[in-house]
Amino acid sequence: MHQEVISVDSYEDLLRRPAFEGSLAFHPKAPRQFGSVIAPYTFLERIPCGIESCHTPHLSGYLITTSDGLETAIGSLCGRKYFGVSFQKERKRVDAEVARQKRLESIKLFLNGLPALLNSLEAFERDYRHLQEQRERLHGAVGREVYQDIRERAKRDNAIMQEYVRMSVSEAEAFFETNNRTRSDSKEWPTKAVILGTLRGLDFFKADVKALILTTLVIPVRELSMSRLSDIESMSSRQVAALAKWIGEVPQKLIEARAVIEAGRRFFTSENILSLVHLGADRRCILPMVESLRDTERREMIRIPD
Ligand SMILES: [Zn+2]
Repeated sequence: MHQEVISVDSYEDLLRRPAFEGSLAFHPKAPRQFGSVIAPYTFLERIPCGIESCHTPHLSGYLITTSDGLETAIGSLCGRKYFGVSFQKERKRVDAEVARQKRLESIKLFLNGLPALLNSLEAFERDYRHLQEQRERLHGAVGREVYQDIRERAKRDNAIMQEYVRMSVSEAEAFFETNNRTRSDSKEWPTKAVILGTLRGLDFFKADVKALILTTLVIPVRELSMSRLSDIESMSSRQVAALAKWIGEVPQKLIEARAVIEAGRRFFTSENILSLVHLGADRRCILPMVESLRDTERREMIRIPD
């Protein structure tokens, strides 16, 4: 099982340990052998390596035990040089354990902040459900074709709705001038794009909203909030690493979730939905949705003062 690795913060910490010796002779100079690694350390000032024949000053190294029950401090490189594979294996074990402990600390810190986070996630989920209802209602109101058009536009960041109309005679004259054409050539009369409107909040249709809000955020946080600390402490190092990594990503996930909710709010406004007639939506079919959005907008306008 997992063994807590002590933290060594200064050379004094080492000197206080009863079995600690500042300098020891090892095999082949003495019968003494390497035992095991107790803990890593990094100091601000150099200390001499505890191997008698080395004494090289170093900043970071390992507190180790010896075959005769003593302890000393050695540089990281010295361990490998003097004790070989047995040291490397021990070092790896302790480093992994220290990494695990650090991750567990960050997980505990996250767990402490969970009640507040769960509150904001509840609001996210409410917004998500509401926006999904709007999305379904929209789908029903505009029909499959216009709905697909909206999604395509989202993919291409194409918010501008426009149509092509025939140029006026004077516009066409200017066009012929600059395009090496004449009004009597057999090609079609030139057209120009006229902007009919701009869709707001299209990003809502670009994102996998369910994944952004529910699958990768609300659900795993809620599950985590139900697990006990002892469950987490008994997780494998790999699981702990994965959990700590995920926790590190939560702030970014919150930003993305907030952004997609904001986009949804910008999309589902009476004005925006009404402008979908420019994409071919039937005005009579979208009017009920536009009306109910207008009602909500009015209520929100009234609510602002208090
Ligand atoms: Zn050394």
